Amino acid sequence: MLKNKYSILFTLRYFTVINNKVISIVGAGISGLSCALKLAGSKLTKDYTLRIFEDGERIGGRAHSIKVDDFSIDLGAGRFSPALHPNVAQLLNELKEEIEVFPFTKIVCPHPQHKGLKEILAQLKLKIASSHNESFFQFLCQHMGHEKSHAIINALGYDSLYLPQISPKIAYDIIEKHPEIQCFSENEGYEWFNLVDGFAALAKSLYQQAAKSGVDFYFEHQLINFQTKSANTLLEFAGSEQQEIWHNSAYTVLALPPTAMSSLNIDFPNSWSDFSYGSIPLFKGFIFFDHPWWKDYELENKVTIVDNPLRKIYFKSDKYIFFYTDSAYADFWLEETNKSEDEYINTVMGLIAKALNISIKELPRPISNKFKYWPSGVEFALETSPDHPPVLSKYNGKVIATSDAYTPHCGWMEGGIIAGRSAADHILKQLEKSDVEKVAAEIN
Ligand SMILES: Cc1cc2nc3c(=O)[nH]c(=O)nc-3n(C[C@H](O)[C@H](O)[C@H](O)COP(=O)(O)OP(=O)(O)OC[C@H]3O[C@@H](n4cnc5c(N)ncnc54)[C@H](O)[C@@H]3O)c2cc1C
Repeated sequence: MLKNKYSILFTLRYFTVINNKVISIVGAGISGLSCALKLAGSKLTKDYTLRIFEDGERIGGRAHSIKVDDFSIDLGAGRFSPALHPNVAQLLNELKEEIEVFPFTKIVCPHPQHKGLKEILAQLKLKIASSHNESFFQFLCQHMGHEKSHAIINALGYDSLYLPQISPKIAYDIIEKHPEIQCFSENEGYEWFNLVDGFAALAKSLYQQAAKSGVDFYFEHQLINFQTKSANTLLEFAGSEQQEIWHNSAYTVLALPPTAMSSLNIDFPNSWSDFSYGSIPLFKGFIFFDHPWWKDYELENKVTIVDNPLRKIYFKSDKYIFFYTDSAYADFWLEETNKSEDEYINTVMGLIAKALNISIKELPRPISNKFKYWPSGVEFALETSPDHPPVLSKYNGKVIATSDAYTPHCGWMEGGIIAGRSAADHILKQLEKSDVEKVAAEIN
């Protein structure tokens, strides 16, 4: 039995070592899929086998939609704005994905601080140039006092704005680039959309295109280690049945977010980058009822921002209600969901009633719910800077790491597309160079 196992492994290793014209992409999120498609579309890779290895059983990573009855809900990425995310918009258009207006740019039941907030933020923005390394919250406190600063961040609904690593510049970027609060910035009026079948439909279309172009997919392959040997890299995976699997690779793209990179034994980020990285948790909770009672309150397709742990409550047409939280309140909801379902639902319903100033007795009991906690929902470079390269490379450019976190669009699918395509360009340049060198050698 043992002998058999080792002879299989030996054959595998032998096979993979001789078959060295392989480009391996690790991670089948939007970054990995975008990379694979760009590589597959180039003549320069015609002699190469393209492979994608994915830890999970599905494609898409943080683009994760599920079906509930006859509609899709986005547990992960959920919306885009063509003005901010042109690559996403173009791709969806090319793939003929059905989109609809993401209507949550109109706040109902305004928070007391919303009045005049746009003007306050515009005035404060002028003072950023003279701020010195302080966080957005410290910056606010200097100019508005402690109490008012708390009230402002509470009114903005995104608790990452409290974090010490969020500078005033990043905070303004957050305010200007989120649909619910862009109305407090000059971006008021940007249009937002979502996919009727959820963002997973985009991942599925990319997967189908890639598979059609000959890209091989390996699911339940978790990269656990790699070694670089002469011109090649030997990738070690843990498979679904606990066996170890090796693959040999001429070029390797690690389309993995920084937290996944850090969990590999490859000294990330120290020997890869001069930057350091952080992430924040996110939580989305969806509640379903047997009738859309919120229509009686004229709340369809509206969002409200509240001073309670629900933070942002969205009333999706006549279909469902969802809430979306980040940072400390994402962790809060993780703890709530670890209690019984009854307790969790009681807490949610009590807070919805409070937010709408209605007695909980007037609200019907939900018939079902779904939720998802993402421990590292948004990943970013701590020293956010336009100088961060979209790809990090080692071993003479043979191993490349890429993520939306390295781009100016960290936390967005747009960044994933840019990252994946940049990784592909990095390899294509090397292939082009070696082709030119081969031709030059033949001429000489
Ligand atoms: C709740 C939430 C809401 C969001 N909302 C939006 C939004 O509205 N609009 C928007 O544009 N963006 C949004 N985003 C961000 C968007 O989802 C991400 O920017 C994008 O999906 C990142 O893609 P990626 O391929 O770089 O990383 P990921 O999607 O994280 O993909 C990485 C892949 O690598 C795999 N992997 C990890 N480790 C290993 C390993 N060791 N071996 C093999 N495979 C591995 C993972 O399983 C995963 O499939 C949201 C994210 C979350 C979580």
